[in-house]
Amino acid sequence: MQILVVEDEHSMAELLKRTLQEEGHQVVLADNGREGFEIARASRFDVIVLDVTLPGMDGISVAKRLREGRNQTPVLMLTARDAPADIVSGLDSGADDYLTKPFSIGVLLARLRAVSRRGAIPRPVCFEIADLRLDPGSRQVSRAGTALNLTPREYQLLELLMRNASRAVSRETILESVWGFDSEVTENTVEVFMRQLRLKVDNREPKLIHTVRGFGYMIREPKEQ
Ligand code: CA
Repeated sequence: MQILVVEDEHSMAELLKRTLQEEGHQVVLADNGREGFEIARASRFDVIVLDVTLPGMDGISVAKRLREGRNQTPVLMLTARDAPADIVSGLDSGADDYLTKPFSIGVLLARLRAVSRRGAIPRPVCFEIADLRLDPGSRQVSRAGTALNLTPREYQLLELLMRNASRAVSRETILESVWGFDSEVTENTVEVFMRQLRLKVDNREPKLIHTVRGFGYMIREPKEQ
């Protein structure tokens, strides 16, 4: 991914840059809000990691101005530990997620993956696989024209799979995306929910949801005969 990191603390910025580069990402650094805003506006990034307290223009204003300019690049905001107000205004300003300092690199990487998955794909009007149809706008799901009654979790699960159609989605990714990082939920729970979901979605042929053994699940068009 192309990642813009806007962070004025030199050591933190360098640590982020090195870690993200080790993960195979391309990183551009900006050490103040105004520069970050200009760079974000001028080129395309997959994700912006944006500190809140910045000289020049704070992170909240940067995010707000980007959104006002119709820039929809996913933003992961870095906020101070004891400032819930920062978090609220960060999310209100258009950030997609936040991380409170100090944070572990593992959590940062996982959040980046989640944020980029949510944001990088432009939202189509509807997802369709064979006769299964999911409308993210109204959160309606139907199969062969019959509405399916899904719980919110089941819906989230199905939307995640459909956004990643024909790609295997790991149980770990499902846990992170549907339940979040801090939850006590185990991969067993994923299996239970997936079984419920399949009963509702795949109660007819052809089956669309497939188990990828030892990894996770995939939804895809039925194979041509
Ligand atoms: Ca700062």
